[in-house]
Amino acid sequence: LFVDSPLAAGETVPLAPAQAHYLRTVLRLGDGAGVAAFNGRDGEWRAVLAGSGSRAALRVEESRRAQPESRGPWLLFAPLKKDATDYVVQKAVELGCRRLCPVLTRRTQTRTVRLDRLQAQAIEAAEQCERLDIPLVDPLRPLAETLADWPRERRLFVLAERRNAAPAARCFAQARGQDAAFLVGPEGGLDDTDLDAVAPLASCACTVDLGPRILRAETAGAAALAVWQAVAGD
Ligand code: SAM
Repeated sequence: LFVDSPLAAGETVPLAPAQAHYLRTVLRLGDGAGVAAFNGRDGEWRAVLAGSGSRAALRVEESRRAQPESRGPWLLFAPLKKDATDYVVQKAVELGCRRLCPVLTRRTQTRTVRLDRLQAQAIEAAEQCERLDIPLVDPLRPLAETLADWPRERRLFVLAERRNAAPAARCFAQARGQDAAFLVGPEGGLDDTDLDAVAPLASCACTVDLGPRILRAETAGAAALAVWQAVAGD
């Protein structure tokens, strides 16, 4: 269970009403039931449930897992229609993405995102897949702005279908051990002005291909992360 409070032995952590309802009513947990709690910073703790309603809280008992180092690739993605954006966030978190960067590309149709909604999705996905860090979710920015202050030590793989790009798995294998990021276009794909925005990063960016078929944008992000995880282990 994600809690936005410090975790240490002896702490009492108040629960939000929705969390209390989930534990008490949905899971039917009683006083003293064990709950695994994490806050994205202090590792995982065994806690026990106490109180109900507005007094529901967790009493933190002992550490169960230390906080792992937060690595993992970044995903730059154009927002998609509502449910598809949720899918992108959910699958990216499950597949080890460390930072989600929504970007406006030339053909992006969905030109707003609700940052709070995406952050809530990221927390829910982290809870579900039992990772202890919460991936960062950036506000929506134009692609060029996101690339303007790009850290050159992070390799940027631009996912581009049918552009004679190198196979993703081969490029990822060559970048094993390095920091990585992937750029996925919107439903209508990346256009030449988007690729022009990447051009100044030639020393750390390259286009890669995920195979012979055109994938939906939400599939392409998940596929790239899965291939990276298989090849690079992050
Ligand atoms: N422009 C394409 C069209 O209309 O035929 C479709 C774009 S595709 C739905 C959305 C994004 O997914 C692309 O911009 C690209 O980043 C990624 N993508 C899809 N298939 C891919 C593939 N086979 N290899 C690499 N990237 C792919």
